[in-house]
Amino acid sequence: MKKVLSGMRPTGKLHLGHYLGVIKNWLQLQEKYECKFFIADWHALTNKYKNTEDLKENIRQMMIDWLSCGIDPEKATLFIQSGVKEHAELALLFSMITPKSWLELNPSYKDLKFNLYYQYLKDFLAGKQVKILLTPPPESFEEAVSKATGKQKSKIFEEYLREAFHRAFYSQKGIDFKYLKEVLIKLGIQKKIVEEAVKNLEEGDVGKDIDTLGFLAYPVLQAADILIYKADAVPVGEDQLPHIELTREIARRFNNLYDSIFPEPEAMLTEESRLPGIDGRKMSKSYNNAIYLSDSSETVEKKVLEMKTDPQRVRRTDPGNPEVCIVFQYHRIFTPEDTVKEIDTKCRKAEIGCVECKKILAENLNNFLNPIREKRKEIEKNLPEYEKKFMEGTEKARAIASETMLQVRKAMKLWEF
Ligand code: SF4
Repeated sequence: MKKVLSGMRPTGKLHLGHYLGVIKNWLQLQEKYECKFFIADWHALTNKYKNTEDLKENIRQMMIDWLSCGIDPEKATLFIQSGVKEHAELALLFSMITPKSWLELNPSYKDLKFNLYYQYLKDFLAGKQVKILLTPPPESFEEAVSKATGKQKSKIFEEYLREAFHRAFYSQKGIDFKYLKEVLIKLGIQKKIVEEAVKNLEEGDVGKDIDTLGFLAYPVLQAADILIYKADAVPVGEDQLPHIELTREIARRFNNLYDSIFPEPEAMLTEESRLPGIDGRKMSKSYNNAIYLSDSSETVEKKVLEMKTDPQRVRRTDPGNPEVCIVFQYHRIFTPEDTVKEIDTKCRKAEIGCVECKKILAENLNNFLNPIREKRKEIEKNLPEYEKKFMEGTEKARAIASETMLQVRKAMKLWEF
């Protein structure tokens, strides 16, 4: 049977986005394959090493979330990464054979840095009340720069700011701060503000938290996580594909250098959840816009009532457009099809009000979450018993990992203890 491995970093309680993007898929996988699902607590340290006081509680919450959703320790092996020290040993040995450039070129490492720097720049400019409006929309970036005076649209400005930053960030020489400065000034931002922003980026703390060996090398640890169990397949989102490729390259390199121990795992492409948060942005704890699996029915109702709807629909008598409404995106997932069709028609004819529509959604969301809540209550009452399942899973995983490490040490001709 195909061996599948997947993990999640314990960074807090799970929300609907996690459910749709990961858990739902795992529920199907555990029925078909030999699955191992692990809580990747060492990976959580790669950028959260300063605040570890929540780590244990986050691991506990993750166990409860998984089990209450139906992830079943009788069907899949559930374990905690740091309970299998062999992952660290294999990661160390892999780090000896992994060229540094493979990691530095890893796109997700660069992208994460890019996003941190860009977000900082945006927040900084917003704090200085910098708004430049571009109108009419320019044909090209160069045209935008040359036209960047007068009253123009801020959204387009943001787009071009991102492009400018992208060009500066991905230049051959690393981050080209000089170019970034020039472009921001051309966009009409005061020189003083630009200089302060760029100086902060150059010399400040932005992104420093991930300037560690651990963060740079986390794909090596990931390769060890996967290969130590000789997994055949790893469910991943598109953004994780380069990591799987790196794992395959490390496996190939090891097999060529020493002995053919590792299979090259394949990526099982899974679709990322497109469910937005209640404000329309990506659902995320940091945006405070998520609906959690552990939210009470009252909290869910309150959050749904806060959701953004069609912005053009101001009065109850205005016809709405469900295509641009966040509430409707949720209906598509959590409301029975007939009702979705009915809401679609009624919204367009102004035959249903947004409050009524949201109440229907809240009820359906609660119908979906109720069994999860029930199971959660039961687990919380007998937590040690359920924690034990993870300890047993960890033992089971360790037995397999030790077996692989015996082969690895032998292949590498290391001292045998
Ligand atoms: S009626 Fe429903 S779908 Fe239509 S705009 Fe209001 S909340 Fe959105």
